[in-house]
Amino acid sequence: MTEILPALSQLPSPSTQRIALRITAPAERALKQGHPWIFDQSITEQSHKGAPGDLAVIFDDKRRFLGVGLYDPTSPIRVRVLQKIKPATIDNNWFHEKIKTADAIRAPLRKQETDGYRLIHGENDGLPGLVIDRYAETFVLKLYTPAWVPHLKDVCAALQQTQHFDHLILRLSRTLNKQADELHGLTDGMTLTASPDKGQTPEGLVLFKENGLTFECDPINGQKTGFFLDQRENRERVRDMSEGKSVLNVFSYTGGFSLYAADGGAKEVVSVDFSTPATQATLRNIQHNQNKPNVKNAKFETLDQDAFEALMQMKADNRQFDIVILDPPMFAQNQSQVETALAAYRRLTHLGLDVLKRGGILVQASCSSRVSTVEFFDAIHRSARETGRPLEEIERTGHALDHPITYKEGAYLKCLFATAP
Ligand code: SAH
Repeated sequence: MTEILPALSQLPSPSTQRIALRITAPAERALKQGHPWIFDQSITEQSHKGAPGDLAVIFDDKRRFLGVGLYDPTSPIRVRVLQKIKPATIDNNWFHEKIKTADAIRAPLRKQETDGYRLIHGENDGLPGLVIDRYAETFVLKLYTPAWVPHLKDVCAALQQTQHFDHLILRLSRTLNKQADELHGLTDGMTLTASPDKGQTPEGLVLFKENGLTFECDPINGQKTGFFLDQRENRERVRDMSEGKSVLNVFSYTGGFSLYAADGGAKEVVSVDFSTPATQATLRNIQHNQNKPNVKNAKFETLDQDAFEALMQMKADNRQFDIVILDPPMFAQNQSQVETALAAYRRLTHLGLDVLKRGGILVQASCSSRVSTVEFFDAIHRSARETGRPLEEIERTGHALDHPITYKEGAYLKCLFATAP
């Protein structure tokens, strides 16, 4: 059993007074179709002012129940819908059921020597604005709205009833981290619960397994919750195609794709990322896998450099690879940045092809939800045609099993595997 730390026991309890809401007809249609958000502008009537985390019940014009969700007066996403059609009491039991359902979906991963995965993928697992990632015995709970604060005790209790872990670490989204008044003493990176015999924070970096490979992550300071779990299946594809190949992994972070390529038998793997902590972690991840003969035998090189500059330099040096992986950060934060993002994707395709051998494989991904799948794949193809190397597609891929999608905006990850003449 884990110990509930003071951070959690001091939080306010959910208000017993529910807010009653009516919404516009288009919002009602979207809700019925499964969209999990009610925007402030869609609210036509509201019983009283609410605080973050109050439960808001949405009714139609005949006073029939449409849904219930978490109210957040600080965000244009005013209500995040938890339950629709059939009324339910939102309590520890309700959270328990949601976590159990999500856990069952991830069961196949645990059979694949994998104990690092996303247990709760927010909206897509019915808990909007909340993410829970597992890294072996350390769990990381990330919040995107203050509306979860009064419910955190119940969520943590439900998590303890369904999962075994030593530490539960809290991460806050960038926006939420600035809302000090709503946090009631919660801080980014703090431990919420811990096994009494394990100390209050994990000692050092956390090690976990993904498809039999060992990775470390820093759940307190790392990007996302410490690792890009969403690329697991694409990494596995790279492992399957790397035998005897030279592989360039651009935007490599802590070397996820690099380790899989080496384990798949790549003879040479170059990783490029401008973050020195990330390339240092890559070097340690290589060390963590020296028990794998292919990893032990592979030749690794890591470059802490800007990706665009590194690619241009490699072209100037006539360096060429059998496989080039391009997995940049999100390029479009909002709609106005989509065109610039597409131009950057095209530029990357061009630079990637410049260092890809004839007949080699290009792997290019986008995690910008604002850039549509069609726009992204079109941009890559257009750029490849312009460089005189029209691509032949091997596969288009999307989300891994632990990152399900249940509504349109939930789909953000897309990746193309293609050969270039
Ligand atoms: N492929 C990785 C995840 C990539 S995340 C994985 O599987 O784990 C994007 C990475 O790009 C981050 O590590 C970030 O440090 C790096 N990055 C962002 N802009 C960059 C740039 N201009 N040059 C090099 N690296 C960059």
